[in-house]
Amino acid sequence: MSIPRHWRLKNQRYSLVGEVCNRCGAKLFPPRDVCPECSKPAYEPFRFSGKGRIYSYSTIYQAPTGYEEFVPYTVAMIQLDEGPLGESPLYKRILAEGVPV
Ligand SMILES: [Zn+2]
Repeated sequence: MSIPRHWRLKNQRYSLVGEVCNRCGAKLFPPRDVCPECSKPAYEPFRFSGKGRIYSYSTIYQAPTGYEEFVPYTVAMIQLDEGPLGESPLYKRILAEGVPV
């Protein structure tokens, strides 16, 4: 990942900062600047708790370029307590859909 892109995504990836729509209250992750629920601008930052449940997961055996040294690794879709789905790598955790993380 390029340094400018890493810098732009730092808050989103490490602090779980998304956005909240001031019109309808929808919480957005990743941030989109336009609410998918009401199509109005959504620029207000919102920090997610980081708590949720495993929605789905998959173990990667053939990694994309730059991630070969980590195989096999598992990536999970996490249903955040605030609503949106997020993506996370998992390490040595009990994997089952519905498990709290
Ligand atoms: Zn909205």
